[in-house]
Amino acid sequence: MLEAMIHDKCGVFGIFGNKKAAELTYLGLYALQHRGQESSDIVTSHNGKINLHKGMGQVSEVFSNPRVMTRLVGDIAIGHTRYSTTGASSLINIQPFVITNRLQKLAIAHNGNLTNSIELHQRLDSKGSIFQTTSDTEIILHLTAVSIQKTRFERVCDALTKIRGAFSLLFLTENSIIAARDPYGFRPLVLGQFKNAYVIASETCAFDLIGAKYIREVEPGEVLEITRRGLKSTFPFKKTKHAFCIFEYIYFARPDSKIFGENVDKVRRRLGRLLAREHPTEADIVIGIPDSANTATLGYSEESGIRFEIGLIRNHYVGRTFIDPHQKIRDLDVKVKFNPVRGVLKDKRVIVVDDSIVRGTTSKKLVKIIRDAGAKEIHFRVSSPPIISPCFFGIDMPTKKELIGANMSVKEIEKFIEADSLGYLSLEGMLNMPSLPDTTFCAGCFSGKYPMKVPEINGSKLKLGSD
Ligand code: SF4
Repeated sequence: MLEAMIHDKCGVFGIFGNKKAAELTYLGLYALQHRGQESSDIVTSHNGKINLHKGMGQVSEVFSNPRVMTRLVGDIAIGHTRYSTTGASSLINIQPFVITNRLQKLAIAHNGNLTNSIELHQRLDSKGSIFQTTSDTEIILHLTAVSIQKTRFERVCDALTKIRGAFSLLFLTENSIIAARDPYGFRPLVLGQFKNAYVIASETCAFDLIGAKYIREVEPGEVLEITRRGLKSTFPFKKTKHAFCIFEYIYFARPDSKIFGENVDKVRRRLGRLLAREHPTEADIVIGIPDSANTATLGYSEESGIRFEIGLIRNHYVGRTFIDPHQKIRDLDVKVKFNPVRGVLKDKRVIVVDDSIVRGTTSKKLVKIIRDAGAKEIHFRVSSPPIISPCFFGIDMPTKKELIGANMSVKEIEKFIEADSLGYLSLEGMLNMPSLPDTTFCAGCFSGKYPMKVPEINGSKLKLGSD
């Protein structure tokens, strides 16, 4: 079963103290769907009763029946929107998971990936735990159930000190929400306020949609309990150097969000500016691969003085290439997804900015589309370094064998994608960005050096679960 475990990336949202908790969670999840859109779930608490609705599909599909919302009563809610990569994207793995035992009713929503899940799973399994899902998140619930601590909050903290890896978590009980972030702070988690209610989300764009005010980050290593009495914060983990995921800034987070204490738009623009400084070239226009590279492209244009143009139109009714779980669809999608603006590209020397190159097949197809539209020269620029290693901290990525950056030199990639030139942002340039003082990042997928011990890679597949 462990081999079948999967990688996914997710968005979480929670609200404490508003009668419309389920509706607001629905909206919060709506804003977070770029972090996962295969399934979603909302759990509410009302008078000691836990209510839940979950389903496969986008948030609007899962909650399309208005009667669903009327059943999700209560002023406390958490929700989760999820993406997975394999057959494990089934109903049983949809979060939040809920358990009821002699001590507690507890629901959990997780963004991240545990690195000691196999070890913990085996230990719990040998002691009689019966697992219902193929997700590592369930392990956390089992750990709370076997904890000998007295209060629920203590049992949650006890469980959290036994897990390793990346976790931004929300727990819902009959009368509280507990939010937790791993001591490295890999994934973002932010705290806000909506009228008299507290809200917690993966990114601030979820606050904007409901009109909530940003208060602060849930700190790395912080466990925060929200009850009728207010907030209680504790730091149960050993202190460690932070390792915020730099890829959140490069690609995953929305540019209108503020995470790790900084606006994503600002950082992404900065990456584009640095790229222009490191890899200048003569050209007539600069275009971005929409939408995720738009902001970096603006930065490139500002720094180089080369005119920004819209050279590709994206079909918004197709999912993001990088998070499409089916290889078959990936091969079809580039033309479906991007159409060139011939009048813009014809007879032009074009700089194309993208945020990353994963397998290289999409970039190759894009270069062909742009060339077929009449571009005279195509200079491909990437606002991050080559990806040379997989992620163990909650981001779905192909195996090392499939990562083009791990297997070819920049010159070879340039030839493979058939660009006239190719330039990646350097690792040093990215990590020394002046707009990020006093911040330390994980850049493991670019450097192969991870901030913590990672599991063995088993051939082409990693043997661990994720959420
Ligand atoms: S390995 Fe890469 S994607 Fe994973 S947490 Fe580190 S920087 Fe982010």
